[in-house]
Amino acid sequence: MQVIRKWIQTIWIFLSNGFWGFPFTGNLYQGPLKVICSPGLNCYSCPAATTYCPIGSLQQLLLGIRFSLQTGSYYVGTFVVGGLGILGATFGRFICGWACPFGLFQELLYKIPTKKHSIPKTLRVFKYLFLLIFVIILPLLIVDQFGMGKPWFCKYVCPAGTLEAGIPMVLLMPDLRTTIGALYWSKILILTGFTGWSILASRPFCRTTCPLGAFYALFNRFSLIQLQFDKDACTNCKACHKVCPVEINFNETPASNECINCMKCMSEACKFDAIHIAIAGHRLGSKRKKVAIASPQ
Ligand code: SF4
Ligand code: SF4
Repeated sequence: MQVIRKWIQTIWIFLSNGFWGFPFTGNLYQGPLKVICSPGLNCYSCPAATTYCPIGSLQQLLLGIRFSLQTGSYYVGTFVVGGLGILGATFGRFICGWACPFGLFQELLYKIPTKKHSIPKTLRVFKYLFLLIFVIILPLLIVDQFGMGKPWFCKYVCPAGTLEAGIPMVLLMPDLRTTIGALYWSKILILTGFTGWSILASRPFCRTTCPLGAFYALFNRFSLIQLQFDKDACTNCKACHKVCPVEINFNETPASNECINCMKCMSEACKFDAIHIAIAGHRLGSKRKKVAIASPQ
């Protein structure tokens, strides 16, 4: 199962970043696919990006609301909000575990052999604050004289943007190097921090900072596809606790917002069929039969 997951994660990277013409054309891809919302965090300005970033687009929508109201051209942004809503309501945080390029980047870094550390649970709340403050409030409220805001999260924080767009663009377009300033270096510092942290701890960006993860987390309990827990089958062996990349004890908090639905607990740990996947509440696959152990005569 985990091999399949790695393949799906890799396929998503190439689906979201399938344009390799940039070095020859010097232009970002602007074809018909660019109206499609990438499910995971994938920078719109990445030279290879074929889709748009859901968090970037949400900010673009909010930062332009005041301007569009002033000019009388307000539009609701159904495409962005609807796209995000459909993805969240269908998959919840399965997207984090299966379709996010920056999630896979952190997973690969975590494989580097070093002493590993846990992440304090209190830091989890920061991703909700980043969603609320950097993605919603600041783009909406802090505007220039024309009523236009800024994409605060993309501009000042997003390490995925630095990795996928900031660094490659500077490498591919030498003219851009003259524009490098304090902001660029501060973002390199953020990316370096998360890169180092990802070697020492599992998925730190997803767990503490990612506003997209925070958004999908709101749907985790209600999404169409879910991992479900069979309390009667659970023996409390705690095997699921040991494999979880985000340090959840699945049998104690089966519907946790933090669960990225990687299914490691189900496929690698639980020997008692206490964890299963369900679509709209219906279990996928039949229940494993309990093996009866014959007693000696
Ligand atoms: S609880 Fe299970 S599915 Fe959720 S993140 Fe942990 S190991 Fe993955
Ligand atoms: S591995 Fe399965 S049986 Fe063991 S505690 Fe977790 S859910 Fe329960």
